[in-house]
Amino acid sequence: MKTYELAIIGGGPAGVAAAVYAARKKIDTVLITKNFQGQSSVSDNIQNWIGEEGINGLELAKKMEDHARAIAGDVVSIIENEEVNKVQKTDETFTIKTSNTEYLAKNILITTGSRRRKLEIPGADKFEHKGLTYCATCDAPMFGGLEVVVIGGGNSALEAASQISAYASKVTILQRGTEFRADPVTVQKVLSNEKITAIANVEFLEVVGEKFVSGIKIKNKTSGVEVLLPSSGIFVEIGHLPNTSSVEGLVTLDQHKSIIVDPRTQKTSLKGVWAAGDCTDGLYKQNNIAVGDAVKALEDIYITLKTR
Ligand code: NDP
Repeated sequence: MKTYELAIIGGGPAGVAAAVYAARKKIDTVLITKNFQGQSSVSDNIQNWIGEEGINGLELAKKMEDHARAIAGDVVSIIENEEVNKVQKTDETFTIKTSNTEYLAKNILITTGSRRRKLEIPGADKFEHKGLTYCATCDAPMFGGLEVVVIGGGNSALEAASQISAYASKVTILQRGTEFRADPVTVQKVLSNEKITAIANVEFLEVVGEKFVSGIKIKNKTSGVEVLLPSSGIFVEIGHLPNTSSVEGLVTLDQHKSIIVDPRTQKTSLKGVWAAGDCTDGLYKQNNIAVGDAVKALEDIYITLKTR
């Protein structure tokens, strides 16, 4: 079986950026990914991708994929529709076990991103896809003329509220904290929409309904007063969890299971393994940052390959 110089695991913005740089540096690489749709592919309109005033998430993902495929040549082999389950090290070689087969590489770049954090309260699982959803872009049109809530106080929640307001008659943002994590400019813009209001300092108790969501029981964390807020839909946007189970035990993770990297080089705790993007312990999670981190990693991989 062939041993590649480098395996890139993941096809989001970080993985694609790494593939582009690997191709240009002529590093014999395999990129293994389930698909090329990073987390932003669900965004309606991304306005902070540098060089684009506004672009649909799927369109951006397609552009990235096209870029990788166009530049790959015979230097980067692209393997799509495969999920990496485990990465193991034997002597100087890494074995990458996927759902279908396995690959060998001398070095690894992990760009596996993150996934949505789930709401863990009674009723949340039962009503998922029955009024409770984690995808505003996918499901907002189903709530035309209805009153809904959005849970979360970050950029994702605020942007979701804005998207949903195009359909719903009223959107109430509920957050557990007292301060929004979202950018102030976003908060100001979203809350100036007369369909959108916000309630802070909330404890989430239970999702209620019969066949479909009819409301959510919440408690004011200061006063202790509990209310049942009627709602036809619940959009959950409460952050993300790193996709790192395939490298658990291989490299050092932090308490959130993010891969600890040296931010100057993107090196992990294990020689021959780098990581970039949302799967790392980098403080800020952004497409632009993921791409920059991946480029940094490729520069470091190249220097390491040439000088070690
Ligand atoms: P964030 O981590 O920024 O915000 C998560 C929100 O969910 C916080 O309000 C947090 O509350 C709350 N929360 C976390 N866990 C729970 C829980 N178990 N129950 C209830 N509430 C909970 O996540 P986002 O997904 O919003 O954003 C992730 C990253 O992506 C950020 O860096 C963000 O800036 C970026 N992003 C950027 C966009 C853009 O620039 N256009 C668009 C979307 C995301 P608390 O504050 O109390 O912890």
